[in-house]
Amino acid sequence: MPSAVNPALLIDRAAWPPDFARPTAPTPVPAPRLLAWNADLAERLGWPARPSALASLWFGGNVPPPGAEPVATAYAGHQFGVFVPQLGDGRALLLGDVLAPDGARFEIQLKGAGRTPFSRTGDGRAALGPVLREYLVGEGMHALGIPSTRALAVVLSGQQVLREQPLPGAVLTRVAASHVRVGSFQYYAARGDLASVRQLADWTIRRHYPELADGDAPYLELLRAVARRQAELVAAWMHVGFVHGVMNTDNMAVSGETIDYGPCAFLDEYHPGKVFSSIDRGGRYAYGAQPGIAQWNLARLAESLLPLLDADEEKALAQARQVMEDFVGWYGEAWRAGGRRKLGLATAEDGDEELAHAFLDALQEVEADYTLAFRALSHLPDGRPWFEDLPALPKTPAMDAWLRRWRERLAREARAPEDVAAGMRATNPAVIPRNHQVEAAITAAYRGEPDVFEALLAAVRRPFDDGEAQRPWMRPPTVGERVLQTFCGT
Ligand code: AMP
Ligand code: MG
Ligand code: MG
Repeated sequence: MPSAVNPALLIDRAAWPPDFARPTAPTPVPAPRLLAWNADLAERLGWPARPSALASLWFGGNVPPPGAEPVATAYAGHQFGVFVPQLGDGRALLLGDVLAPDGARFEIQLKGAGRTPFSRTGDGRAALGPVLREYLVGEGMHALGIPSTRALAVVLSGQQVLREQPLPGAVLTRVAASHVRVGSFQYYAARGDLASVRQLADWTIRRHYPELADGDAPYLELLRAVARRQAELVAAWMHVGFVHGVMNTDNMAVSGETIDYGPCAFLDEYHPGKVFSSIDRGGRYAYGAQPGIAQWNLARLAESLLPLLDADEEKALAQARQVMEDFVGWYGEAWRAGGRRKLGLATAEDGDEELAHAFLDALQEVEADYTLAFRALSHLPDGRPWFEDLPALPKTPAMDAWLRRWRERLAREARAPEDVAAGMRATNPAVIPRNHQVEAAITAAYRGEPDVFEALLAAVRRPFDDGEAQRPWMRPPTVGERVLQTFCGT
């Protein structure tokens, strides 16, 4: 894989604004050992499925892969609503671009490879636990069909990192369409450096939205395109019960991929107010708050792009406001379309959205398991038996009444029950990376046993399969196993 990180492909960088990328070498680790290798992703990149004998050195940060020119990139961001003019890659290093056989471009980043000019008081390192969580959840998202950065490799560093307690350290190799975020634009906008905002916008259009390059209003179209992808992304999160947990503007990629798996979690019991992150005390990033927060973040992107939209400030503002309004429509459309798929509806009727909300209300009433409720529902049209050892749909008057309404609605679809059920089982997952199982995998890995991680990884890669081997991973937490809080660093 010498073409792994091909210097000829780094040409894009010349188009980046000044100061965006600061050359920074990874800090070598004492005993690099390859713990995980994503053969599926390697093949996607056009690399051999088997890791090179040098992989632990390349992806641990000890030896640069061929052609790599590591840089840390600058960005700003609103963290919990507070603007920080300089954040940047404090523990991430971009090695370079890969051009996949189908022409798609990917960035390869090491996360946890040592201090950078943006590290501030941080150590530039990552503990094994969060690295495995990012790997599991990213692969789960990808398998669910939701755009996401993905993990290529995990290298144990042989070094402890100090969090609340000393923990084994690791380096994650992350692959993304790009790592440019809303905060990247804010970094230059906050300095009044319009030329750099424009340069970054041009780069983003070329990279992610090439079809906009020749339009009359490319920057307005860029804002609209980013907003549209975010609307679709967050609607997809909502449909699988995903709570990102840290939707700061520096954690929103302009590519439309899910990025930065920190204190994220999937819902077990359904409740729209659900918060997991220990640092989200006000519930700013609660499950049900995510669409509104996405819009808030997009408004920060709009502000950064404002001078590029129109020389007349009033006109620029009116355009930006229109995009914010359109976001609501795009989100609604995406949510309704996904909701219909979840309920087995191939046609659209006016009452469908209300029907979907009524189902959620019936779940909320008894805090039923979100994933299993939709999955159990998917067994009803063709009468496939549900699993005795797993919670079934709630047996409540509200659910009984709802099921009658749903069956009436399904009858108007006039489709074969087998087709309806198959469609539902291809959209309502049986297996998601459940918090308690992710935590169990991490705990075992900290004891030096990676087998739970491997088994859970295999399961979340087949989210729509509920066969025998998948059954243990479908099980929701017992009261004692419930993960109530998630943390960034452990
Ligand atoms: P996050 O909450 O993951 O989005 O990170 C916020 C900021 O903190 C980013 O600028 C990160 O690069 C930085 N950061 C997070 N962890 C570390 C660390 N261990 N060392 C240095 N910087 C870090
Ligand atoms: Mg981040
Ligand atoms: Mg993070």
